[in-house]
Amino acid sequence: MKYKTAVQRKQKKLIRSLSQVGPIVEGTLSTVRRICGNPGCRCRTNPAKKHPAMFLTWKENQITQTLYIPVAHLEEAELWSKNYKRLKKQIRKVSDFHKKLLRSK
Ligand SMILES: [Zn+2]
Repeated sequence: MKYKTAVQRKQKKLIRSLSQVGPIVEGTLSTVRRICGNPGCRCRTNPAKKHPAMFLTWKENQITQTLYIPVAHLEEAELWSKNYKRLKKQIRKVSDFHKKLLRSK
């Protein structure tokens, strides 16, 4: 069996964690309530009946991009967005770990 130090084991574990996050999507999810196109709809007269809608926004070359999320994808969008935030945290952890290694003599 190959000898592994505790540091090497930790490094392997950290790197592996990056691929275990699952599907991701980058951007900020926001929920707004809006009026639909139907002139007879209650959303026109009752603000409480406005329809919830979700958007994903992100920057591309300093320009904000917006993606409307259809109702069928709301749960996926929330999960993938959460995963993205987790991945970012994991990347920071792995990077910090490697910075420590680079600093050690
Ligand atoms: Zn409506």
